[in-house]
Amino acid sequence: MAIQSINPATGVLLQSFVPISDETVQEKIALSRSAFEAYAAVPLRHRELWMNKLASLLDAEKDELAALITSEMGKPIVAARAEVAKCAIGCRYYGEHAARILAPEPVDIGSGEAAREAHVRWDPLGVILAVMPWNFPLWQVFRFLAPALMAGNAGLLKHASNVPQCALAIESLVRRAGFPRGIFQTLLIEAAQVEHVLADERVAAVTVTGSEAAGRAIAAQAGWFIKKSVLELGGSDPFIVMPSADLDAAVKAAVKARAINNGQSCICAKRFLVADAVYDQFEEQFVTGMDALKIGDPMQETTEIGPLATEALVRELDAQVQAAVKAGARLLTGGAPMVGKGNYYEPTVLTGVPRECEVYREELFGPVAMLFRVRNIEEAISVANDTPFGLAASMWTRNELEQRQFAQSLECGAVFFNEIVASDPRLPFGGVKRSGYGRELSAAGMREFLNAKTVVIGGATASVSDKSSSQPASASETGPDDAGVRSFRDHLLAGAPTTK
Ligand code: NAP
Repeated sequence: MAIQSINPATGVLLQSFVPISDETVQEKIALSRSAFEAYAAVPLRHRELWMNKLASLLDAEKDELAALITSEMGKPIVAARAEVAKCAIGCRYYGEHAARILAPEPVDIGSGEAAREAHVRWDPLGVILAVMPWNFPLWQVFRFLAPALMAGNAGLLKHASNVPQCALAIESLVRRAGFPRGIFQTLLIEAAQVEHVLADERVAAVTVTGSEAAGRAIAAQAGWFIKKSVLELGGSDPFIVMPSADLDAAVKAAVKARAINNGQSCICAKRFLVADAVYDQFEEQFVTGMDALKIGDPMQETTEIGPLATEALVRELDAQVQAAVKAGARLLTGGAPMVGKGNYYEPTVLTGVPRECEVYREELFGPVAMLFRVRNIEEAISVANDTPFGLAASMWTRNELEQRQFAQSLECGAVFFNEIVASDPRLPFGGVKRSGYGRELSAAGMREFLNAKTVVIGGATASVSDKSSSQPASASETGPDDAGVRSFRDHLLAGAPTTK
């Protein structure tokens, strides 16, 4: 894909970029590796200061960053501002909690004849490549970079080709926050260049957020090179409404859960499974709610649905809707691209999508909902699990027994009751099945790119709290490491990276 910003609301080309050459990629990888090596000497509390500065910059530049997001991928401006604010929250979370997550963990391995001690230390892996999507062009990147940089890793970003200006803005923010040169870099490269980056010995691991196709291709390469990978892929999350639900609240949330981010979020609710007893009422209210959504210029404060990010997405979504209708599904509202400028698609509701139809098992990335009537909780669980994906689920029930049954039986990475699914830096985020593997956010996300190194000390009296055993986590507790900082500054001043 050409690396271009095209305003999805107008079709106007904003800026084009030439992909960087393989030679420049090599230079950037070399810089990344040397920055990583020097970064080990930086006390954790310096990283925390930079991370907090990064959060402050995000807060201070929220309006400009939000406008950039909206102009490149079309989400409503109010949502874009919320995205920037969430990035700041993520930075502060990892700034505050990294020391706890990275602290060495003593392990009691029993007392034999000789005194033995053991602990697990959490060491960074090195240079991590992040291949990221356009739908949350800042948040997807920050939820990788905040834990990665606090943990002592270096980051290389290959962002989606339609959000290059966001990609460059992130690099600039990290640099202006004070982080060392080279510790986080944007690579303006095409998808085909990813394999060369991953093949490089100086790149330790990869995280991919995107489609199944991208995940499959990159994970296969990572497997070949025997490198750690984390995959955050698509989803077709169920939104289940049981008879005990507060129906008005459920309908309101259902519309929001389908329409959020113009319908282009991995954790948007995409399939609505409604108990027979309340189905008719839900269907009527839900269709009314979808019809009432305010569609328009995403720069307007009141817009609830903007354009899809690209023209191709409109064509793909429409082909899915037409295929479902051809297979026997019934359109309750919408069902076509909107006429006029921009990549707009009508908020659409389908019912009775047959199981044999391919769309039944696909992700619908836009404001299109599929409704299903279910007889009881067993059928709800069976339909919910009848998908290749397993990201998350939202259930509306006040019955505790049902809550326990759903929590235990649903094959997915997160279950939310009487709330819509949302990511939160404090909670692990990720899926099972073809939604991917590994986790982002919380301690679990940070540890994906750490080496859990076992340390056993025979016949020793040293304890893990001794200064001699300190590494990033304890560096902050032991006071400034002046020698380390000096050598790091030397590295910065030296400028040119050492090529390995
Ligand atoms: P995409 O087309 O897969 O692109 C994602 C990234 O992968 C882009 O940077 C893309 O680069 C790159 N890419 C694509 N194919 C590649 C290949 N063969 N080799 C190397 N790189 C490749 O996905 P998208 O359309 O941007 O994002 C939408 C998808 O992401 C949806 O399926 C959504 O559910 C999923 N998603 C998942 C999560 C999660 O946390 N689970 C979060 C957000 C989105 P180019 O742009 O240059 O093609």
